[in-house]
Amino acid sequence: MAPGALALLEGFGRTSYDPLCAESCLRSFTSLMLPCTNMEDGMGMMSTPPSCRAQSTPFLTSVAWCMSDKCVGVPASKLEAYWEDWVTGDKGVQPKWTFSEALANVDPRPPKAQLNSSDTTLNATSIVAPTTYLSQWNVLGAVRDETAIESKYSVSLVVITVGLPVVITWLGYLPWIPIVFDKLKPYVVYPSTIGTYSVRPLPFLLGNAPTTGQGIFIALFIVLNVVFTAVEYHVRQPSAWFANGWHELIAYLLYRTGSFAFALLPVLLLFSSRNNVLMWLTNWSHSTYLLLHRWVGRMFALYAVLHSIFGLLTYKEYEDTVWWKWGAAATVFSVVICLGGGLYVRRANYEIFLVSHIVLAVLIVVGCWHHLVLWYESMGMHLPDYTSGYEDWLYTAIAVWFADRLVRGIRVLKSGIRRSVVTDLGSGYVRVDIPGIRWGVEPGNHVYVYFPTLSPLRPWENHPFSIVPTAILGQSNRPSSTSEFSGSPSPSAHRDEEKQAGVTLLIKKSAGITKHLERHSGLLTLLEGPYPNGDSKDLLRCDRLVLIAGGIGITSLLPWAYNHWNVRVVWSVKDSAAGLVDEVKGALDTSSITQKDIRIGNRFNASEIIEEEASVGWHKVGVIVSGPGSLCDEVRAAVSLAGRAGQTKFNLDVDAYSW
Ligand SMILES: Cc1cc2nc3c(=O)[nH]c(=O)nc-3n(C[C@H](O)[C@H](O)[C@H](O)COP(=O)(O)OP(=O)(O)OC[C@H]3O[C@@H](n4cnc5c(N)ncnc54)[C@H](O)[C@@H]3O)c2cc1C
Repeated sequence: MAPGALALLEGFGRTSYDPLCAESCLRSFTSLMLPCTNMEDGMGMMSTPPSCRAQSTPFLTSVAWCMSDKCVGVPASKLEAYWEDWVTGDKGVQPKWTFSEALANVDPRPPKAQLNSSDTTLNATSIVAPTTYLSQWNVLGAVRDETAIESKYSVSLVVITVGLPVVITWLGYLPWIPIVFDKLKPYVVYPSTIGTYSVRPLPFLLGNAPTTGQGIFIALFIVLNVVFTAVEYHVRQPSAWFANGWHELIAYLLYRTGSFAFALLPVLLLFSSRNNVLMWLTNWSHSTYLLLHRWVGRMFALYAVLHSIFGLLTYKEYEDTVWWKWGAAATVFSVVICLGGGLYVRRANYEIFLVSHIVLAVLIVVGCWHHLVLWYESMGMHLPDYTSGYEDWLYTAIAVWFADRLVRGIRVLKSGIRRSVVTDLGSGYVRVDIPGIRWGVEPGNHVYVYFPTLSPLRPWENHPFSIVPTAILGQSNRPSSTSEFSGSPSPSAHRDEEKQAGVTLLIKKSAGITKHLERHSGLLTLLEGPYPNGDSKDLLRCDRLVLIAGGIGITSLLPWAYNHWNVRVVWSVKDSAAGLVDEVKGALDTSSITQKDIRIGNRFNASEIIEEEASVGWHKVGVIVSGPGSLCDEVRAAVSLAGRAGQTKFNLDVDAYSW
């Protein structure tokens, strides 16, 4: 491998074994016993230290002769530089002669002694054994080329996976393309790949079906991976490292799968980030990136498993080394994290899923790191300047992860320590008012909320909620606290709240931390956000916005009504949620809402609503649905159907309150 100030990837600024002829010459002689070789015991265990090579006339002259013979056309300066760096095997130990001096000391020219591949000693200036040289030249060239090919495909994989969402989004800014996209949406973007399953989990909690568009991206990603793993292998025999072509091929598969796994790590972490730069560059939603994160993760685990299997087939003799064990551990963790990230675990206990997911992810990165660094050491390489560059992928992955965590921390600090007023709306609903937060009335945002005192053993626990500007809802007309809990706020406190901006969360209590939300006049609250659910621009440019909510789903829809001039709201809630309706009703009395249908205790037919909108003749209708999975999926199916059938173009946004 070639050294460099920066750890560059092979083929991207790094060329190993350069010049190949010189490296092949050197390696053809390094295994031979020299007169100065230490015979440590009588059992044939020998070692030739750099100082021995530095002074050995047979060694230096034989290597120099081989280089002058095989490296015709290579500039002498390059050969001199190579010689200086590598000929003794230690850059700190310089040979007694430069390359040209060693060559000048070859006597006779050409040397009389001709080595053959079975020779084990070197006592005089000799000509390299042809098969030995060829075997070295073959394997070093083949490994170098294979490494360059795997770098090329690793980089392509990352660039395509990360770049495609950007390209697709940016295409939409060109003339005419949006017209084509609008036509494609009901066929590609909205429908699910499996029936009407999308937010509703597949049977047996197998997961969530991707939409057709997501499915195409995933299929493309899989095809790319299969093709890049399958093509361009060049086996060269005889080989100094591999006994036969099969062994050599498996070794290259081992290298490639390992390299691809490393390359996918940054993508994997980027797609899962809350502060995913792609969210700013594209109009793809966080939930889409999370879905893709799972598929990239599965591919990563598959590569890890394949890498391990190929390792067992080719290098089993190393299975007791520490680097092997770290690699094996990382593979096991990769499989466990995949299985442990399934919907069945997320549904059973989201916090256990999240904590175990993070711990396992850290263990995988640590495992990869030790696997790589200790393997480097076993090969006589070392960080930072004498490596194959694979660590670049790990550095990038760690940087992506830390950048996200850093921005998350900054967001929390920016919002500051807040005291929120919690109001019980009855039937398991609460309203949380957080004064002093000025996030405007922009629609389609959510925030991660921390209630450290509600989960003192897990103060880091945070949950996503939609944001409603308090001004839209007005002050709650219910008592926010009782003396039983934390003392009634004074009337002047209420007046203060009215005088400043703030955000409000409407929460349906669940079985975790939200279960502990009780009336409170000053609950310690930290906010991380706001984060966009997706891109709202296209929806806001529609001629009509249809907001379809089920139950607590109304929360994420309210701000839309304050950002458009022609809004229809359809909201159904259970009888028991009358308190929620009371709280929200006032906010729905705004002039932009031209049609309003609130149903308490009975459901509406989503398909009928969409058909009605299509029949009115709007040119473009934006549909935003938020509520139970069944409602979201019903609306998705109805919009796909109506979009294909009629003249009206539909833009759909599903805010399902679940990833
Ligand atoms: C973008 C978004 C906006 C949301 N807005 C609202 C809202 O305005 N009002 C509201 O009542 N609910 C909202 N939710 C749902 C809310 O986040 C969950 O109900 C809440 O996290 C449950 O917390 P818990 O500990 O009580 O839940 P648990 O009873 O422990 O879990 C119930 C379910 O909630 C989901 N969940 C739990 N923790 C998380 C998490 N950290 N991230 C994602 N999902 C989680 C899981 O699917 C889990 O199965 C929203 C969810 C998302 C993704």
